[in-house]
Order: sequence, then C-alpha cells, then structure tokens
Amino acid sequence: MDYMGMTQEEVQKEIERMQRELEEQLAKMTPEERAAAEAKAQQAMREDDAALQKLMDDATKIAADVAHGVAAKPKFCGNCGAPAGTGNFCEFCGSPLS
Ligand SMILES: [Zn+2]
Repeated sequence: MDYMGMTQEEVQKEIERMQRELEEQLAKMTPEERAAAEAKAQQAMREDDAALQKLMDDATKIAADVAHGVAAKPKFCGNCGAPAGTGNFCEFCGSPLS
C-alpha cells in the first residue's frame, strides 16, 4: 500500500503521532476548555444539520412549486379560450399559458 508516497507503516506512525499530539492537547486542557471544545464541536454539528435542513426545505419548496405550477396550469387559453394543450403556449394563438 502506498499513500501519498508513504508506506503503510509510515502512515500508521503518522496517525499515532497525531493521536499523541491530540491526547497531549487534551491533557493540557482544563475541564472548562474541554467543555468549550466539545460545545464548539456540537455547535459545528448543529450548523451542519441546519445547512442540511435548509437544503431539504429548499428541495421541498421547489418540489411544491413544480407541483403547484402543474396544478395551476390553465385548462383554457386566457387569450382565445381554446383548450390548452400540454405546452407552455396556446396551440391556436400562441399566447403564453401562464
Ligand atoms: Zn389562444
């Protein structure tokens, strides 16, 4: 296995070194600092959730708009009164069917 030009053993050592550094940092932290770090991490997760929720809301809104647009499509041309087809314009007079 070759990861970024490093052998698996080197990658493993790098991961262990990062874990030690993290543990050293955590050991140096006061309980208050740890709590603050945890709160910050939870805040970041909440923001991710909020971003995801907004994306879902937007998708739902777009879907609703599309469904509404289909339902709101007139059955007859507003200009000449001819039956409206499936297109966006009247087949008889060419007026937009909005
Ligand atoms: Zn028409």
